[in-house]
Amino acid sequence: MAVTDHVDLPTFIEGVKKRNPGQPEFVQAVQEVAEDIYDFIEDKEQYHSEQILRRIAEPDRIISFRVCWEDDKGNVRVQRGYRVQNNNAIGPYKGGIRFHPSVTESVLKFLAFEQTFKNALTGLPMGGGKGGANFNPKGKSDREVMRFCQSFMTELYRHVGADVDVPAGDIGVGGREIGYMFGQYKRITNQFTGVLTGKGLEYGGSLIRPEATGYGAVYFLRNMLKTQHEDIEGKTAVISGSGNVATHAAEKIVQLGGKVVTLSDSGGFIHDPEGITQEKIDWVKAHKTRRRGRIQDYCDEYKSATFHAGKTPWGVPCDLALPCATQNELLGEDARTLVANGCRAVSEGANMPTDLEGVHVFKDARILYAPGKAANAGGVAVSGLEMSQNSERRSWKESELQQLLLDIMEGIHSSCLTYGGIAGEKGYTDYVRGANIAGFKKVADAMLAYGVV
Ligand code: NDP
Repeated sequence: MAVTDHVDLPTFIEGVKKRNPGQPEFVQAVQEVAEDIYDFIEDKEQYHSEQILRRIAEPDRIISFRVCWEDDKGNVRVQRGYRVQNNNAIGPYKGGIRFHPSVTESVLKFLAFEQTFKNALTGLPMGGGKGGANFNPKGKSDREVMRFCQSFMTELYRHVGADVDVPAGDIGVGGREIGYMFGQYKRITNQFTGVLTGKGLEYGGSLIRPEATGYGAVYFLRNMLKTQHEDIEGKTAVISGSGNVATHAAEKIVQLGGKVVTLSDSGGFIHDPEGITQEKIDWVKAHKTRRRGRIQDYCDEYKSATFHAGKTPWGVPCDLALPCATQNELLGEDARTLVANGCRAVSEGANMPTDLEGVHVFKDARILYAPGKAANAGGVAVSGLEMSQNSERRSWKESELQQLLLDIMEGIHSSCLTYGGIAGEKGYTDYVRGANIAGFKKVADAMLAYGVV
């Protein structure tokens, strides 16, 4: 039998760069994972000879399509839509849809790659995918958003399905957009199936889905603190973003007795030293989602706060940091500032918010650092539970779902402890390494069972 030569890590990364020119986000995501996986598989010949990592880092397929729609003035507008189906070794492709001007093939490939490991970590049968379009819902009327979503689904419907690929929301895609897309899917196929998650409760959605990502990121944070005999109560948290993930993370921190002092959006951040209470969080939710306003307006409503235009909140002293906006929003310098200011723990609500340099700063400082693929998996986990409820044609009770979310986040934390230990360093867990290896192992072992496909 021919045995493939082992390719070392630098050569592997060079190959990824060469095969994916102009796709820095994707290369960054693969590099972060590969650093840990190479270490893990060093003495595991089969993973090498079967080229498992090389295969996971090559999406099963990438679908790209034109999305034409008409704005309110009758102008024809053209956008580019995508679905990246990265890997379905352990279940149907699953991952959100993002509508944002920054969407490119590279961004969606990185997200689909990360999603593959994240979904495996939940313990539920879900493969990894991600989709979206370079469409900006900001400033568009409801009718414009509806026409765009319908046009997007008119192309996407042939590539998705309850047992094939089940998209959900992400940046710029919330309940309104999911409703329009589900309506169009149902109209075209004449089928009422669980093809999307994040649906409204009236038509197959699950309780606690909107809260799950933010709450889950805080549960994960609490689990990490527990290993050091610490708790969230009395601690100060700095949070970025002011969308779905950020506001629910803030809510859970407040419920657990912590104090949240910042939120942000792409315009800058607000600092409220008196603390962002539940009442203030409710105001932000209504203002940002229903009124589609800006976080800056918080300062007109609450005089204790100041707005810092064009800045991120990482310079504000804190015990806990939760980046919950977007990728690469926390750079090496920010990470150094957080550590210097005494930050004890970081839990990523967003996907890959910390750049590679920042990741190394957190690891070197030996602080508690949870990567997004572990910390923000609560959202996709409850999406997985929504799929189960749709298949059963039942709706589970909120208390059941809350418990399952807690259990799943605890399970992910345990997996990270199992694989994230560092030889000779008792008591320290490298959560990035733990999450990468635990996620990889599950997908890899399924791929080994299938042979070369
Ligand atoms: P939302 O659209 O609800 O909110 C996104 C927030 O991030 C907004 O406050 C937005 O500000 C801000 N933001 C977006 N782009 C930038 C940017 N380039 N610079 C600064 N701020 C920015 O999205 P979600 O809360 O759903 O998603 C946030 C993150 O969490 C993403 O990384 C997403 O992939 C991840 N995630 C989400 C899950 C979910 O269940 N929703 C599940 C797992 C991960 P503005 O209004 O100015 O655009």
